[in-house]
Amino acid sequence: MNILDLLVFIPPYIYFLILSLIIINTNYPTNMVIISSHPDIQYWFEQRIEQKFGSAVQCCNREMGGKEICLYYKTKNRKQRSDEKMDVYFDIKPDQLPIIYSSNYNIRFMGLQKLHPFDSEKWEKVHNILLGAGIIKRNTAVEPHEAKDEVLQVVHPASYLNKLKWSAYVARVTEVPFLFALPNKLVQQRVLRPFRFHTGGTILAGKLAMERGWAINIGGGFHHCSKEDGGGFCAYADITLCIKFIFMNYSSIQKIMIVDLDAHQGNGHERDFMGEEKVYIMDVYNRGIYPHDEYAKGAIRKRVELRHFTEDAEYLDKVSRHLTDAIAEYNPQFIVYNAGTDILKGDPLGCLSITPQGIIERDEIVFRAARENNIPVVFVTSGGYQKCTAKIIAESIINLKNKELLR
Ligand SMILES: [Zn+2]
Repeated sequence: MNILDLLVFIPPYIYFLILSLIIINTNYPTNMVIISSHPDIQYWFEQRIEQKFGSAVQCCNREMGGKEICLYYKTKNRKQRSDEKMDVYFDIKPDQLPIIYSSNYNIRFMGLQKLHPFDSEKWEKVHNILLGAGIIKRNTAVEPHEAKDEVLQVVHPASYLNKLKWSAYVARVTEVPFLFALPNKLVQQRVLRPFRFHTGGTILAGKLAMERGWAINIGGGFHHCSKEDGGGFCAYADITLCIKFIFMNYSSIQKIMIVDLDAHQGNGHERDFMGEEKVYIMDVYNRGIYPHDEYAKGAIRKRVELRHFTEDAEYLDKVSRHLTDAIAEYNPQFIVYNAGTDILKGDPLGCLSITPQGIIERDEIVFRAARENNIPVVFVTSGGYQKCTAKIIAESIINLKNKELLR
């Protein structure tokens, strides 16, 4: 038994008290351990520490005594702190699979999330099914860092990030009207902060896919957000950021393809990469639904428009043929796959009629094409928020594993 195991037996409020005193009375604590599973307590500490030391916080959940209860905070020296602000790229260990998830992804709002048509906890459900199936293990999970302002500003101008400081704007972007009435501090904490973790996850997925050949972010895929405007439940342009970080960090990569198979047109990244030779966009979407962004369509180089209630056979044939053509035409060095599941039959927003098996086959088509052509691929889960969606996403990932496409 090591000393940390003993800490389990001390009630969390004792830590709360001791650490409050440490934070208040010292300027440079070098190492702190916080035991608390409660997100509000974690958030309280994070705010206090950040106020005092800048963005000097690093945290990770650990399993102890069979429970995931431990959060470590370490403060760094000034130089390390400034590096850390951009530290969404980090190395993982050989025994870790590049499947990225954080409990911070989930949006919980005193039960009010139940009023929204979206299942805003689908990411946790996917993660739990993958844990149960033994695809990933709790102690080797890859947890992304939050994308802070320094990271977001690689794409987003300060004027856009300032707009998010208005709850009314966030209410419009997320299509959750009641956010309008809430203090922005609460909106930042409960809605935007989860999105910033998703965004950190998608950026990290880019690095890990370069190293491992593939990476899955169990969240992200905010394809309606461009660098200057959010919309359709998308507040940060994570796909654009992922691609910009790859160009910044891997000079050999000059041709990236976005394969956007969410039911909606991906107008955010399309606006961002309008006229950009180094990014090729393939987009398969229902032409009869949001966002009808005619200007953004100008950026799509392989456009496949679907009619309402398109079914499996036609859909899979079109995806497969056009993807083969697009890869042959452009010869990409990297693929970002936006795997929205709102193509599912019964989705009130997607209005298509694809079966769960059709979604699993679609994901396999894309992964097979990428892996067989040795093209690193990032998978993000994007739209699709029916109650059954999480199970389908998890089953699709399990299918990729069973077909040996996650090696
Ligand atoms: Zn969608």
